[in-house]
Amino acid sequence: MKQRVCFVNAPYDGPIAGIWNDVFPPLTILSLAAYVRRERPAIDVSIIDGLRIGPSKAMVEALASPARIFAVTYVSFNASTAYRFINSLKKARPEVIVIAGGTHVTSLENDAFEKSAVDWAAHGEAEETLVELLDLLDGGGDPAKILGLLYREDGRVARTPNRPLMEDINTLPFPARDMVNLRDYSGIYVAHHKHNQHILSGRGCVNNCWFCARTVWKRQKPWQRLRRPDNIVAELREMRDRYGVREYFDMGDEFNSSEKWATETATAIADANLGLDWQTFSRSTPVTDEMAAAMKASGCWLVHLGIESGNQATLNGIGKNITLEQARQAAAIYQRHGIKVVGLFMLFNAWEQDGQFMYEGVKESEQTLAFARSMLKEKLVDSITCSPAMPYPGGLLFDAAMRHSIIPKEKFDDWGIWDHAWNSVMTLPGITMAGKWRVKLKGIWIQSWSLIFSRHLNFSHAIWGRGLGMFKMVFGSMVDGFLKITGKKPSRHFGRYLASFED
Ligand code: SF4
Repeated sequence: MKQRVCFVNAPYDGPIAGIWNDVFPPLTILSLAAYVRRERPAIDVSIIDGLRIGPSKAMVEALASPARIFAVTYVSFNASTAYRFINSLKKARPEVIVIAGGTHVTSLENDAFEKSAVDWAAHGEAEETLVELLDLLDGGGDPAKILGLLYREDGRVARTPNRPLMEDINTLPFPARDMVNLRDYSGIYVAHHKHNQHILSGRGCVNNCWFCARTVWKRQKPWQRLRRPDNIVAELREMRDRYGVREYFDMGDEFNSSEKWATETATAIADANLGLDWQTFSRSTPVTDEMAAAMKASGCWLVHLGIESGNQATLNGIGKNITLEQARQAAAIYQRHGIKVVGLFMLFNAWEQDGQFMYEGVKESEQTLAFARSMLKEKLVDSITCSPAMPYPGGLLFDAAMRHSIIPKEKFDDWGIWDHAWNSVMTLPGITMAGKWRVKLKGIWIQSWSLIFSRHLNFSHAIWGRGLGMFKMVFGSMVDGFLKITGKKPSRHFGRYLASFED
């Protein structure tokens, strides 16, 4: 019988659903699908982007799918909806086999097995594990021999050792973008062109900031593998010529981890004369004139600069390995070369030092906002974003927060509140609700106005593309505020947004 595999990007119905869940196509499953298509051409491969279409439509499509194997990927914030999806699917179609994968699975290996009817899971980099598992499901074999696998055995979760990371990621096929309608995705609204897409120019990062959860890449060395410039150019050319893409966001971590590679890559993109605008993430070091000039010449117009805090002690504590002065200099260099800068900041940063749980209070968070404002005034950054530090599973901060019991038990009831909006799942001793709200409102105010006046916000795109989601969130918060004041229980869809603001 022909093997049919359906890749599912797990749905999400939490507080910020509708705001960004259809911004970009699901690169993770498109990459996996491309790999399976190449390695096992006889397998019939299909895609359900549950994140874009929502839980109900995703279930309708899954029930109608001829696939017998479902490979479901998710991160922490959509883990609970993934479990609900898996459980409903297995109940309606007990014959299907469900395989889970993604960063949440790798960070908390037993979670899916405890909370869902999942059959198998891949921990770590999944391409090769998945193909070997599909062979086993087709022809039999010993699962204990497949590296990177989790499965049920004798009432417990069996785990095989970590799979070594792929040595050469240039050999991977480009994501199977042909399996989705790229026009279904809005693209990011801070962009020159509406039709913008994203790529990954590498896997992993050489740094290890406390708040960052790049679990899959931090378990083994090398922590970072960068693609060859010509390989990146080939994918960009395909995106332009085959899909009509005019702008892209390189979401690799982070473009300037290696200044030499960044300069060479930007030069190769410029030499290819693709005519694409692009933006990317940047650390504050290393940033040089030569690198920034090459980036500008290749079409880079915006960098999202990781600054995180306006306090040097915090930057030292969270392992950012930069100084405030280096952040200012990096922004100045980009500006000098005509590249706009979004400053990325976090509030209520936390870390562990000499066995003690350390964190920024209201005063330190306000200092960060003051630092952000000074960079705006001096035109070092064009806009900023800020949000409270989130201890994502897999990161150093999560482990420390668990050791010090900083995350209340009820925060684990639904992973939906572990999004990256204004939620904070940590209860930091001594921080009052009033103080927390003051910082949050100040942050939202500065962020909003800096974005509006930065003139790099694509207004029509933002309103038509994201307006409905924003309306839902704002309206939902108001409804829940009213329900809370009147002593009623917040609604399921809107309640978690407000609930997440509580101490
Ligand atoms: S925050 Fe950026 S620099 Fe730090 S570990 Fe994560 S990707 Fe690397």
